[in-house]
Amino acid sequence: MPVNDENKTLTILGSTGSIGTQTLDVCRMHGYKVKALTANSSTDLLEKQAREFHPETVCVMNEGAYADMKERLADTGIKVTCGKEALCETAAIPVDMVINAVVGMVGLEPTLAALNAHNRVGLANKETLVTGGELVKAAEKSNNVDIVPIDSEHSAIFQSLMGNSQNKIEKIILTASGGPFFGYTKDMLRGVTMEQALHHPNWSMGRKITTDSATLMNKGLELIEAVRLFDVTPEQVEVVVHRQSILHSAVEYEDGAVIGQLGVPDMKIPIQFAVTYPRRLPSCSRKLSLFDVGTLTFERADEETFVCLAEARGAIAKGGTAPTVLNGANEAAVAAFLDGKIPFYRIGELVSACCAAVRYTAEVTLGTINDADRAAREYVDKEIQKGE
Ligand code: NAD
Ligand code: MG
Repeated sequence: MPVNDENKTLTILGSTGSIGTQTLDVCRMHGYKVKALTANSSTDLLEKQAREFHPETVCVMNEGAYADMKERLADTGIKVTCGKEALCETAAIPVDMVINAVVGMVGLEPTLAALNAHNRVGLANKETLVTGGELVKAAEKSNNVDIVPIDSEHSAIFQSLMGNSQNKIEKIILTASGGPFFGYTKDMLRGVTMEQALHHPNWSMGRKITTDSATLMNKGLELIEAVRLFDVTPEQVEVVVHRQSILHSAVEYEDGAVIGQLGVPDMKIPIQFAVTYPRRLPSCSRKLSLFDVGTLTFERADEETFVCLAEARGAIAKGGTAPTVLNGANEAAVAAFLDGKIPFYRIGELVSACCAAVRYTAEVTLGTINDADRAAREYVDKEIQKGE
């Protein structure tokens, strides 16, 4: 029987990015109404999206972009807002689902604003859970609204848990592509270029997460994300390098049964599932042919070379604001790498040094999170200046 899904309303935070544009592809296919769009700045793409989807509100984060965006949309009647407070207000507009597809810890407060307004959240923005996982889970519970993960691994775990609420999770198998530098030694990593780092073998994504995939920090952030989302210990999460990105992750139960989700690597599948959950609808994604794939391989990650993954384990073991320090260091180091200020191998070094040097607190509030984030970024920026 066809599902009547076309009356759904969505807000998309970070609509011009990789996840944002793919979310709009899903909206276009199923006729979802888009209530609000947000992006960092005013761009041709944001204007085009606004003209196509006619949202009520368009919010730009960068205050300098406000006048330009307002002028671009002057003939449309669309309300234009700007800044962080406006981003949170946008997340709180009543809708069936807020898709959080912004990049970085800036996504935390809008996630909380959405949940506190009783909006369901489709969460791609993993930094939200890494830095403010406890706050987000508390807001989810107190407001009695769902967070549905969009990150492909967490969507796979979420799907593998469906129908199993009575059953204890023995272990989560978190798969990793291994990134472009799988098998490299520390020495080899010293010579890699930005172009190589930004060339992911299986997924086409934004520049920050593509860099995180190359350092394996992405898997570190996802390990913390899994601990937060599924209430397991870090020891229960096993990272497995699976070069083909076909098994998107799995859950092992007490009886030894392992239930996983497979599919082609295409983010539109988990994005659409977040919106249609618990139902499934036809999609425009390619179907999986196991004959075409042929072989699935599974290997261990080299955490001595890819130190970011080991640092993420250390941070979640410490708890409190330690994951925020890790994340802040990484955001600052990756931004410097993408600006051409530091070579690739320095990202891991800076993250390790920052995690060892910057204080963290056991207490987790928005205040302590912001303080830890600021301290980590300042530490990394100073270290980079020293090295210049
Ligand atoms: P992206 O860089 O392609 O897009 C980011 C979006 O956020 C853009 O619309 C940009 O304008 C907006 N933005 C950037 N900085 C901002 C700021 N300071 N304030 C407000 N908005 C800002 O990123 P992406 O690859 O789409 O990733 C988005 C999030 O989803 C990340 O947390 C990433 O880890 C996660 N994710 C992405 C993928 C993927 O396939 N791209 C897969 C899994 C998870
Ligand atoms: Mg992922």
